[in-house]
Amino acid sequence: MHVAVIGAGAVGVTAAAELAVAGAGVTVFDRGDPGSGSSGRAAGIVYDAYAEDIDAELAARSVEAFRRLSGTGGFEFVDCPYVFLAREGDEQVAEAIAGSVERMRHHGRDVEVLTADELERRFGDSLVVDDVAAAAVAHDAGWADPASYVEMMADRARAAGVEFRTGRAVGLDVDLPGVVVGATVERFDAVLVAAGAHTKQLFADAGVPVALKPYRVQALTSTTPYDGPMCFDASVDVYFRPHSTGLLGGDGTEPVEADPDDWDREADDWFVEGLGRELDTRADYALDVDRSWAGLCTATPDGDPLLGEVVDDVYVAAGWQGHGFMRAPATAAAVAEEIRGGSGIEPFAPTRFEGDEAFPIFQGMTVETGKSGESEELEESGESEESEE
Ligand SMILES: Cc1cc2nc3c(=O)[nH]c(=O)nc-3n(C[C@H](O)[C@H](O)[C@H](O)COP(=O)(O)OP(=O)(O)OC[C@H]3O[C@@H](n4cnc5c(N)ncnc54)[C@H](O)[C@@H]3O)c2cc1C
Repeated sequence: MHVAVIGAGAVGVTAAAELAVAGAGVTVFDRGDPGSGSSGRAAGIVYDAYAEDIDAELAARSVEAFRRLSGTGGFEFVDCPYVFLAREGDEQVAEAIAGSVERMRHHGRDVEVLTADELERRFGDSLVVDDVAAAAVAHDAGWADPASYVEMMADRARAAGVEFRTGRAVGLDVDLPGVVVGATVERFDAVLVAAGAHTKQLFADAGVPVALKPYRVQALTSTTPYDGPMCFDASVDVYFRPHSTGLLGGDGTEPVEADPDDWDREADDWFVEGLGRELDTRADYALDVDRSWAGLCTATPDGDPLLGEVVDDVYVAAGWQGHGFMRAPATAAAVAEEIRGGSGIEPFAPTRFEGDEAFPIFQGMTVETGKSGESEELEESGESEESEE
């Protein structure tokens, strides 16, 4: 069996390595270098704190894989607790934290609700907590540099016999199936499209709509030291973690569909200023920006990924809602297994959508509240679809 993988991000290289180790011939295509898409721009936050069973299972397996791979090929996974919290006055999110922690624990995740005293005692040295209404901590969590993960996994893939063809954008042919390279279509037994923000476009050009929208998010690093826990302040949608330069923080979601070929790679002033304010409030932290940037994530109508067969022998792995890196080891393994004849993950099957659905974009990092994000499209059209997120 010879499989083509379009996209050498965290997902594509992991799937390629899995397929090759299982005996398949694999060719990976990337328009740039491995990791040059969203994986090279990601914050690298990893946790297994998901309230839904499949997510929790995939995330837990991924945390295990990150720990196992840490120390190989320049890749390091740093264990670090993940605190998520709601501010006083934000009752909806505060209640959602309690409810989702119960479900996470039900799925065997090592997550606990913290009383105000516990929060102060355990994290009061690095976080300001006197305005916190509800908080929880996930222990199976940590951070890593996603670019070094891709590099390490690409090396493993090469060692298992995977061929990499980089530096050229390719197209998709769903009939053969095949990969369009310039004027030629190369035939494969199966094609996996793991092309991140370009995935929708690749399928659209091949005449197959998929329910995906790229959207822009932002992050920065700062040189002031920070050695506290990873933290997500769900009331203001801001996250931060320790980083080799000091701190990495982000969100700055723009909830509108982005053009994957024409978007602003620089962070906006409003994002940098806003994050500076929130870091001061939450961690008494003085922002001293080292680098700031934007990147693209992909949204789906229900917030779950599109993972599996779209049409005969053509597969997709995309739509991670800002959580693609932390689940990459397990989601890539799952789609590789499906390509080899396994059953796949039914609730994530891309065929659950027609592909032409209208849907609003919700930011990825969130506590599952049902709290709706702002959506320009909804505001403009007056539509009233509800996200299940
Ligand atoms: C600022 C930011 C912070 C983030 N933080 C986190 C986080 O903390 N934790 C987390 O889990 N996730 C995070 N994410 C999300 C994460 O980056 C993505 O979900 C993940 O990297 C997706 O990996 P991927 O392999 O699917 O896609 P990508 O890494 O985007 O890879 C797709 C590849 O396809 C290639 N490609 C596209 N079109 C073509 C074509 N026509 N021909 C050939 N190649 C093509 C691209 O060059 C690219 O290399 C963040 C994202 C951003 C932008």
